[in-house]
Order: sequence, then structure tokens, then C-alpha cells
Amino acid sequence: MNFELPEQHRILRDTVREFCEREVKPHARQWDAEERFPSELVPKLAELGLLGIRIPEQYGGAEMDTLAYAIAVEECARVDGSLSLTIASHNGLGTSHILSFGNEEQKQRYLTKAVTGEWLAAWALTEPGSGSDSAGMQTTAVKDGDDWVINGSKMFITQGSVGGFCVVLARTNRDVPAQRGITAFIVEQGTPGFDSSKKLEKYGCRSSDTVELTFENVRVPDSQRLGEIDRGFYDTMSILDRGRVSIAAMALGLGRGALKMAVDYAKEREQFGRPIANFQAIQWMLADARVGLDAAELLVRRAAIMADSGEPYSQEASIAKLYASEVATRVCNDSLQIHGGYGYTREFDVERHLRDVKICEIGEGTSQVQRMVIAKHLLRD
Ligand SMILES: Cc1cc2nc3c(=O)[nH]c(=O)nc-3n(C[C@H](O)[C@H](O)[C@H](O)COP(=O)(O)OP(=O)(O)OC[C@H]3O[C@@H](n4cnc5c(N)ncnc54)[C@H](O)[C@@H]3O)c2cc1C
Repeated sequence: MNFELPEQHRILRDTVREFCEREVKPHARQWDAEERFPSELVPKLAELGLLGIRIPEQYGGAEMDTLAYAIAVEECARVDGSLSLTIASHNGLGTSHILSFGNEEQKQRYLTKAVTGEWLAAWALTEPGSGSDSAGMQTTAVKDGDDWVINGSKMFITQGSVGGFCVVLARTNRDVPAQRGITAFIVEQGTPGFDSSKKLEKYGCRSSDTVELTFENVRVPDSQRLGEIDRGFYDTMSILDRGRVSIAAMALGLGRGALKMAVDYAKEREQFGRPIANFQAIQWMLADARVGLDAAELLVRRAAIMADSGEPYSQEASIAKLYASEVATRVCNDSLQIHGGYGYTREFDVERHLRDVKICEIGEGTSQVQRMVIAKHLLRD
């Protein structure tokens, strides 16, 4: 097996890495401290093609594959978890749902604006009362003439306030089991009754935008229904498969970034008259980190390549996300340990990586949910 990336992907990796070192790394700590979404970065992300990685050229996108998307997310995460979460959710959830299930008119209207950054995409599945049990949602959409009227609320929505539009999942049929009665809609920012003002304060990824959304008699025309009526939950599950590959890639990038910091620090910091890198206890933490991250990388690449091949890859996406997020959380924790007391201060970026990486064990299905998915496949096969 050839482990070298194809040339196009190597160029992408190097370009995104160079961009992040120059434009993101010097500011990420401050954006995090201010809990501020860096809107000024959006045009630059668009210019680099990072807002339409998988979107076809006919809509202005870069028309690359899932492997490219995973590499871009990983590279952003090396320096800033918040940015990688933005890139992952914009590409993997909101725009991906329209790309996979939208009609031509919807692709023209939304994807062309998404690639330029004029409209960032949000995607709203989770509710205050339903997370892991996502089909247990209470938000409803009721047909009224040619319109649908949406009522309810959504929780923890990335790009909820800075996004130009939001793909919203709602119950459309209460007479059938929940999975068979959910439909997706596109709601534009500024639609009467749509409130996205309630921003949430977070432990990590603090410069990504996370919002509680409310919908009070929000009226959208049927032309903003996305996909078939009552099929939205099944579409959502396939969107989450690809999304999970990117959360795994985000974890991998955060782990790689933290390990680099730990290696640099261990060579510099002296105790007992020698660099701490000379101590075997430190070397073992570094070696274990490298092994775990390399294994995670192979799992992420396998899932991404399978996604592009058209084979079923739901189980592989869950395996990649579960393993990468748990390994990366351990790596970030050990990297902070190697920094000692300094690592615990905000003067070093390693504490931000540790805070940021935790979301990878929660978002797009917790580690417990990934184990449920993997076990379900195992027992079924
Ligand atoms: C920063 C951030 C960004 C997010 N972005 C988005 C977004 O853009 N769009 C969106 O729709 N959602 C988003 N989410 C929501 C995220 O996907 C959910 O938080 C996640 O799916 C878990 O749901 P929950 O928080 O309701 O936890 P719960 O489902 O309440 O789970 C609580 C605990 O119980 C465990 N648990 C639940 N059920 C079981 C079970 N059957 N067996 C064993 N253990 C179980 C869980 O693993 C967890 O440990 C985001 C969340 C965060 C924090």
C-alpha cells in the first residue's frame, strides 16, 4: 500500500498548512479569549477554496473529494480547533445536505453563495431535549397552503448566528414512527420568527459560533423544503457519516498540533540539568502519542477513501471518529502534562488544544453513540 498522498492532496495540505501558520496561528489565542468568530477570515477561506471543498465547479466550488476535505480540516485543527469546526460543519453538514439532496434551484441559490462566504451554512438537528436520540425532536413543520410553518427550538448549532442559512430538521408527520416523519427545510437568516441571537458560552472551540435557535411560526415556501417529505431523517444519517470523518480529522489535527508543541517544549525545557526530553517518562508519552495518531490517520483516510468509492462506510466513519477523538484527547492531555505548570496557563496554546479536542468526543454523536453504531454493524453482519 502506498501511504503517500496523491499530488493534488499534498499541494492542498501544504497550502492550507502555510495559510494557517500565517493567517490563523498568530490570532487564534486572542479569538479564543475574546470568544469572537473571526468574520474577517471568511473571504480568505473562500479564496482558498475551503468553503466549497466538495462543491462542484459549476457552483464555484473546488470539486475535491472527501479525502481532501479531511486533510483541510486536519490542517486547520493543527493550529485552531474553532476554525476546523467551522470548516467541518459548513462543508460537511449544511452545504453537504444541499449538495446531496437539494434540487438544482436550491444548489444555484445556496451553494453559489456558500462558496464565496457570503452565506455560511448551519445545520440544525439537535434540540434542548434531544441529542443522541435525535429522532426524538419536538420541532414541527406543518403545511399551510404552499408554505410550511415551523415551530420549536434547536440547540448547539454551529454557525447558528453567523450563518446566512440553516438546514433545519423538523417533524412533519406524527402518525408514524419518528424516523419516518422528519423533513429538512432551508431557513434563511432574517426570516420572521427565526431567532438566532442566543449565543452559548463554551469550554472549548470558543471562537466558533454556537447558538440556540428558536422558530416561532417561521413560514417558508415549499421551494425551501430540502429532499423528500418525511425522508429527512434517513438523509441526515448519511450526512452524519461524512461529517464524522471530518470530526475524526479535526481530532487528528488537534492531536498532531499538540504533539508538535510537546516535542518542541521537551527539547527546550531543562530540569535536573538536562532537557526533559532526555527522561524516559517523557519519551514514552511522546512515542505513545505518535503511535496513536498514526493509527488514527490510517482510520481517517480509510473512511474518507471509502466515502469517495461509493461503498457503505458508516461503520468505518464511526470507528475513525471514536478512535481519533479518544486518542487525540489523550495526546492533548499528555502534551499539556509535558508542559507542566506552564501548560496550564494561557501563555501556551496546548491548553486551548485540550479544551478544543473534547468536542470531538461529543459532537456528531458521542463516543457512546459511535460504539452503539459499531456494535450494531458487528451484530448485524
Ligand atoms: C460545540 C458544539 C457544536 C455542535 N454543533 C452542532 C450543530 O451544528 N448541529 C447540530 O445539530 N448539533 C450540534 N451539536 C450537538 C451535538 O451533536 C450533541 O451535543 C451530541 O449529539 C450529544 O447530544 P446531547 O448533548 O444532547 O447529549 P445527550 O444525548 O443528552 O447525552 C448525554 C450523555 O448520555 C450518553 N448517552 C445518551 N444516550 C445513550 C445511550 N443510548 N447509551 C449510552 N449512553 C448514552 C451520551 O453519550 C452522553 O455521554 C453541537 C454540540 C456542541 C457542544
